[in-house]
Amino acid sequence: MKKRITIVPGDGIGKEVTTCGKNVLDHIAQAFGHEFEYDYASIGHEAIEATGEALPEESLATMRKADAILFGAVGHPKYDNDPTLKVRPEQGLLKMRKELGLYANLRPIKLFDELLGASSIKPEVLRGADILFFRELTGDVYFGERGRKDDGNTAYDTMIYHRYEVERIAHKAFKAAQTRRKKVTSVDKANVLESSRLWRAVVQEVAAEYPDVEVEHMFVDAAAMKLIQNPRSFDVVVTGNLFGDILTDEASQIAGSMGMLASASVGDSVGLYEPIHGSAHDITGKGLANPLASILSAALLLDISFGLKEESECVIRAVAQALKDGYRTRDIADKDTPSDKILGTEAMGNQICKNIRMLAAVDSE
Ligand code: NAD
Repeated sequence: MKKRITIVPGDGIGKEVTTCGKNVLDHIAQAFGHEFEYDYASIGHEAIEATGEALPEESLATMRKADAILFGAVGHPKYDNDPTLKVRPEQGLLKMRKELGLYANLRPIKLFDELLGASSIKPEVLRGADILFFRELTGDVYFGERGRKDDGNTAYDTMIYHRYEVERIAHKAFKAAQTRRKKVTSVDKANVLESSRLWRAVVQEVAAEYPDVEVEHMFVDAAAMKLIQNPRSFDVVVTGNLFGDILTDEASQIAGSMGMLASASVGDSVGLYEPIHGSAHDITGKGLANPLASILSAALLLDISFGLKEESECVIRAVAQALKDGYRTRDIADKDTPSDKILGTEAMGNQICKNIRMLAAVDSE
């Protein structure tokens, strides 16, 4: 298979982890006889410094030509500490999602057995948890009208949803549930918010087209509590942009660390794959970033955009093998991890590539 992939490293640890994700794609191409060609595009702080824009038109044009995109993260402390700066890295991210029509963010939350001890939640609560989040990406307070009035002393952000936005993501969630445990939990705040009442009504209508799938509606406050209390009770979760942003970070604790969670953003055209973590400037350049979220994002890319299930599975098995062999980055190590098993970013990436070579050789025997 011949494919073109745009690599968008972005800022901070985004660069370090996408290097590992790309190496993994190269090893898969070599082991399975595919040809992947790469382009690079800039975004975020890096792009602002170079061009004054968080997502230059040239980057967008490169992304539009791609069969899939592997993205790192954007962000820089300069902007976090100064909310008055007008051009901001996250604008690049929002524009990229909007321009590419990426309306659904898929976040699989599944704990590798070897990491049961790495979470702050009890293993007996976690074991067997397997959740697939669908977070809506193009609506909500992120895109509604916002502003200041009364001399800057009053601020507002409008939570807005259109019927078509809810319909299309609800269909994706119900279709995914049909291939899983056939349950969809729709999360909203319909007891308070009008946009949530529309959300709930539309999900209910869509649910009628999937009689084989059980649907439950849950308020976001209850969902936040239940995720930690009984994560196994969820199968597919579908929710809006803001609630999804918060709940998926909470759910990252089920997987042990932010550094373990991959995501896919899909819509009507090219798919974009990225770790859920940010640019993590506290550890940038120190070789401490866990590259597994980016590597697992590459696995999602192979599966969802290219339909390469065996290759995707090979990446996941290579990660599981490294964990089984006791290798950890610092964020997922515990007090019992021997120091020679604690790897830096590059070494963990190399370990996964080594496992891919080994697994592909064994499978082809
Ligand atoms: P963050 O995800 O960057 O970091 C949160 C914590 O998790 C930090 O302590 C960090 O060291 C740790 N962490 C994150 N990824 C890790 C990894 N791969 N390995 C080991 N540890 C990891 O979130 P933040 O600190 O809230 O934000 C930092 C910057 O990233 C901000 O500028 C923010 O705007 C941006 N951000 C970007 C995205 C994105 O590009 N999708 C997402 C979230 C935050």
